[in-house]
Amino acid sequence: MILAFAGGVGGARLANGLARILPAGSLTVAVNTGDDFEHLGLHISPDPDTVLYTLAGLNDAERGWGLAGETFACMAAVKRLGGEDWFALGDRDLATHIERTRRLATGETLSQITADFAARLGINQAIIPVTDDRLRTLVRTPAGELSFQDYFVRQRCEPAVTALVFDGAETATPSPALATLMQSPELQGVIICPSNPFLSIDPILAVPGIRDWLRRRRIPCIAVSPLIGGKAVKGPAAKMMAELDLEATPRAIAEHYLGLIDGLIIDRADTLQALGECHITDTLMRNIEGQERLARESLNYLERQRRA
Ligand code: GDP
Repeated sequence: MILAFAGGVGGARLANGLARILPAGSLTVAVNTGDDFEHLGLHISPDPDTVLYTLAGLNDAERGWGLAGETFACMAAVKRLGGEDWFALGDRDLATHIERTRRLATGETLSQITADFAARLGINQAIIPVTDDRLRTLVRTPAGELSFQDYFVRQRCEPAVTALVFDGAETATPSPALATLMQSPELQGVIICPSNPFLSIDPILAVPGIRDWLRRRRIPCIAVSPLIGGKAVKGPAAKMMAELDLEATPRAIAEHYLGLIDGLIIDRADTLQALGECHITDTLMRNIEGQERLARESLNYLERQRRA
């Protein structure tokens, strides 16, 4: 069994590579829920949905979110009625949120719903939210505290970030399947996907028990850097690092995960700034072949850590 921690886009790409080359049922992807929010009366889980859609082969790879071939007729109709249209929800994507919200209201957990959606979409690996409890990333900026989607979508990551707050984290617990896997003798290794360390991985690590478990674990854990040539492939990782007085280098990523990982995979473009135990390769996943290649290298590197 392999456990991967993931956010949305970068996480889903590597998770997809891993899902395709590992035997069915041997990968668990534990996904960030700090980006979850309630909108238009619906519970929206952006990162779990990106992972679900990507592993089901239904994602829009160009746009980076939502379903391929999506239409937005409902959104246009909402706008015509004067409703909120700053967060685009596709017509088919809406079905996911409607059905999730309905099932949450009947008392099902996010874990149960996500696992069932994965099965119904034909995914043969486990996808679970990191926690079933309420976890909300808040972004502190000079102009005050913003909810995550307000910062990310409405304000297009423009405000400077001074700190991140993971509301609800103190009282959250790992989702049942994650808690079981963390104790399982079958678990052979952990991979932290190339997701935004601050927005996608830190909320996961803020759930009590997870960071300590990573510190104490006896199995290997590696991370893949989300930076290529000191820049993020997508999103505000590098901009945020500058705002947080960090250099956008593998060194800073390695320091961020200090004590939690045994090794880091970094892109060739970042070679000169390497620090400590790392594996240097091409980390940009342009297509499914690229996802499988980096997944294979991640698994080989994980195995080398186990033998070391
Ligand atoms: P979000 O929640 O949708 O922002 O998703 P993530 O946090 O998982 O993904 C954002 C991060 O993924 C960014 O910091 C990107 O630099 C990184 N990323 C996206 N695609 C790739 C890729 O192909 N290779 C690597 N190394 N990083 C990537």
